[in-house]
Amino acid sequence: MKLQHKIQFSIIPLILIPLLIITMGTCLLAKIYLASIYGGQAQGFTETIANPFAGVNAVVDSVRQEMEVGGPTSVDHIDDPSYLADVNERLERCNAFLIVSVEGEITFRGDEFAAEVENRLPEYGYSDIYAEGVYLETEAGHGFFLRPFDFQFSDGRLGTAYIIARTDRIVRTMRRAMIQLVILLAVVLTVLMLFLSTYIYRTMVKPLKALQEGTERIRDGNLDEDVKVTSADEIGDVCKSFNEMRLKLKESVDDRIIREQESRDLISNISHDLRTPITAIKGYVEGIMDGVADTPEKQDKYLRTIYAKAQEMDSLINELSLYAKIDTNSMPYDFKKISVGDYFDDCAEEMSLDLETQGVAFAYENRCAPGTKMVADPEQLRRILHNICVNGVKYNSKDEKKITLGVRPFLQDWIVISMTDNGDGIEAKDLPLIFNRMYRADAARSNSQGGSGLGLSIARKIVEEHEGKIWAESEPGVGTTISFTVKLWKGAKDE
Ligand code: ADP
Repeated sequence: MKLQHKIQFSIIPLILIPLLIITMGTCLLAKIYLASIYGGQAQGFTETIANPFAGVNAVVDSVRQEMEVGGPTSVDHIDDPSYLADVNERLERCNAFLIVSVEGEITFRGDEFAAEVENRLPEYGYSDIYAEGVYLETEAGHGFFLRPFDFQFSDGRLGTAYIIARTDRIVRTMRRAMIQLVILLAVVLTVLMLFLSTYIYRTMVKPLKALQEGTERIRDGNLDEDVKVTSADEIGDVCKSFNEMRLKLKESVDDRIIREQESRDLISNISHDLRTPITAIKGYVEGIMDGVADTPEKQDKYLRTIYAKAQEMDSLINELSLYAKIDTNSMPYDFKKISVGDYFDDCAEEMSLDLETQGVAFAYENRCAPGTKMVADPEQLRRILHNICVNGVKYNSKDEKKITLGVRPFLQDWIVISMTDNGDGIEAKDLPLIFNRMYRADAARSNSQGGSGLGLSIARKIVEEHEGKIWAESEPGVGTTISFTVKLWKGAKDE
């Protein structure tokens, strides 16, 4: 669920549940308390709030009607104490009671509160004025609601029945109801808030905490652990992006570590590769200075060796500076639309002349359709071919050396160029590593021909800049094939 929906989801119960509880609680409490205040004559809660005496009136009316049965001249049953006790008992159920006065004398007191209200009761003959009831207060300040009615016994005696409702008790009961309602609301709100805060903690705070721990782990350099994604909301999305960022960061850190290691290896290899010819040069120069080369022939031989070693250093330094240029992407490429046939025919001719002088047999085959065009930097492409070709001769101890150049279409948009030699081959364990910079297989290290270990890594860099791929297949003792792809020109055919 989205965070937005979760918040909406939390707000709805926060509003609805208390509302529901207030409504239900009010209805329930009103029903219970009104019944306790007004007995069977209970009226609605709102009506009670508007006119608290309406309920009392209703009760009083019914009692009065009952007491007056038989008309004003036939109310002798009011003289019967057991009847009065019965009426009073019913009135008590709704916080009211009865006082009866006959000929100015109180003959029935339904409640001990009667003593407090007696001096406030109107005399016989005033009941019509108070027919609708009146709210009075005792001297002690206790409020009560009074409904008197006069009557006359058949023997002519005059009397008044006072029905008194204890409004102070009604108010007390109402107050209790209100307090209970507030307590109920407080309990419900507390439970609801507890539930909601747990829900929010689980769905929002917990994942945020996990995220925070994740950032701390990264700050401390631990890039191996993912943040556990538990929710499918915005926080979950942030966690996912965070994990992706961690992976990228880890990749770049790993890459940096590898690069640093490679740089260290490079420096140590360069110093080693430069030291070897320098040591040789020093030795030969000392030989000349010390007079070891005492004949002109010897001196000539020494000087030629010194020259060869200096050449070796020169080409190593050249390759290094070229590699540095390629590695830092500061070598400009000049991509052109080139005819595959023309270009490789030229290369093949050049190579065959060069290899012929070294006594190496050369074969060339182009299986691409005439007119096929490719996109490449011709000068850099030649560099790749040269590096591969040099290796084909260098790592070949056979008497009859042979190199074959093949060009053929590859998939939809590519051509593949392969150069095969019948040389010493490469061991399977070395095969994936030969394109790494400064890598030399053990066999090559001991090879007197030497080498910088940069030729194939330069080739790979150039191929990658052409968006192509380079790979090697080899069988020790049989030969090696190095292949790479170049993109076809995708423009109109006659272009
Ligand atoms: P190097 O200057 O050492 O030749 P390269 O990058 O050109 O550097 O080649 C890396 C290593 O791959 C070589 O040292 C050699 O061990 C191996 N290698 C490359 N080409 C061939 C091949 N045609 N036959 C045998 N081994 C090869």
